[in-house]
Amino acid sequence: MTGEEIAEERRSLHGYLVCIDRSICVGFEDCATEMPGAFRLDDEGIATFDAPESVDATILLGACAACPVDAIRVLDGDGRQIVP
Ligand code: SF4
Repeated sequence: MTGEEIAEERRSLHGYLVCIDRSICVGFEDCATEMPGAFRLDDEGIATFDAPESVDATILLGACAACPVDAIRVLDGDGRQIVP
């Protein structure tokens, strides 16, 4: 596994590509608490995916936008960044 794979987790969800930059995340947990279900903190206190397939797109995008340090990026189907 490369450093890049460890630092960034990506998943395709609801037609978006959601990327967590784990090297930026500082564990404030806003993404997990403001819109629960999409993200959680792992054993290191860094954000990871929880069950994002189970939340609707509005909640998912809200959770992504809640990050105060812009550790979560969202690209739309055309590759345009819509969050942050
Ligand atoms: S809100 Fe941002 S900094 Fe806080 S846990 Fe989520 S990704 Fe990390």
